[in-house]
Amino acid sequence: MTHETFNSTPITRFLIEEQRRLNGDSTGRRGGCTALIHDVRLACKRIAALIGKGALANALGDAGSMNVQGEAQKKLDVLANEIFVHTNEWGGTVAGMVSEELDEPYAIPEQYPRGPYLLLFDPLDGSSNIDVNVSVGSIFSVLRCPEGVTHPTAADFLQPGSAQVCAGYAIYGPATMFVLSTGSGVNGFTLNREIGEFSLTHPNLRIPETTSEFAINASNSRYWEPAIRRYVNECLAGESGPRGRDFNMRWIASLVAETHRILMRGGVFMYPRDRRDPAQPGRLRLLYEANPIGYLIEQAGGRASTGHGPILEVKPESVHQRVSFVFGARSEVERIERYHRDHNEFELDVPLFATRGLFTHSV
Ligand code: MN
Ligand code: MN
Repeated sequence: MTHETFNSTPITRFLIEEQRRLNGDSTGRRGGCTALIHDVRLACKRIAALIGKGALANALGDAGSMNVQGEAQKKLDVLANEIFVHTNEWGGTVAGMVSEELDEPYAIPEQYPRGPYLLLFDPLDGSSNIDVNVSVGSIFSVLRCPEGVTHPTAADFLQPGSAQVCAGYAIYGPATMFVLSTGSGVNGFTLNREIGEFSLTHPNLRIPETTSEFAINASNSRYWEPAIRRYVNECLAGESGPRGRDFNMRWIASLVAETHRILMRGGVFMYPRDRRDPAQPGRLRLLYEANPIGYLIEQAGGRASTGHGPILEVKPESVHQRVSFVFGARSEVERIERYHRDHNEFELDVPLFATRGLFTHSV
């Protein structure tokens, strides 16, 4: 007799077996990370339950406050942040947390033990879409707390993405999924609501080498630099253009949903630097959006970049720092990096790009 419950590996078993494989026993330094992942997954299940109630939870709409980014907080942003903080603060796994929704790093209350890790998260990604019932998610990144530090300050969180111990996201779509990397590939788990647990359904996710799908917010095209304009125009030119094949465009405006699509079936995502605000190199947040997503993408065989070089090598300067972000199929991201090298970003009237194509606004 087969039964779904016994046919699939629950996430708890997966993590314990992975820990045994890495350490030869169950006590190594990754043990603490496993316990932390258990708490993060519980936070995500709690958020999934809340979001799944929709308007019935009476939690849709604006909270009437702004976050440190100057964005209007949704009620669910605030609730998801509280769930993340309170599910992860007590277990003795973390020494501090950074959240999109908190101006300053969260100090672990004194009654709780400190752990060896730092947890950074976007508790509810894509929340501007929540009222229209589009997939949203939670993104998290785990760093080691510097040796000897028990009360981390903002500076302790400013580590490059390459220092991440693990990273992942939950996506709250038609199915709730938890996608995770601890540094040896990417695995996807689906929430079995009958037993309230994630089961391994997507082992060893790999991003296809080639793609005919790209994602970008085309309403910003008048601000694009020549490299991005060239790339998109070549995709739009389709079979008769230099790429020799037709491309499709996608834009969900939810980073987790875009990432999930690319992990499942390939593609490339661009939120490039543009000329809107020279002080702002991009839109997405480095520490709790681009770094964890970049880590997953690289672990799945793709490439994650600023458009100029690896995202995971960017040295952070502040906890809410924004960055340009291009990721997905390795060959496409490398092409976009090459275009950035080939063209002076601020020389916007290079004839090749100013004369042809849809996105050729003169400036
Ligand atoms: Mn977000
Ligand atoms: Mn968010």
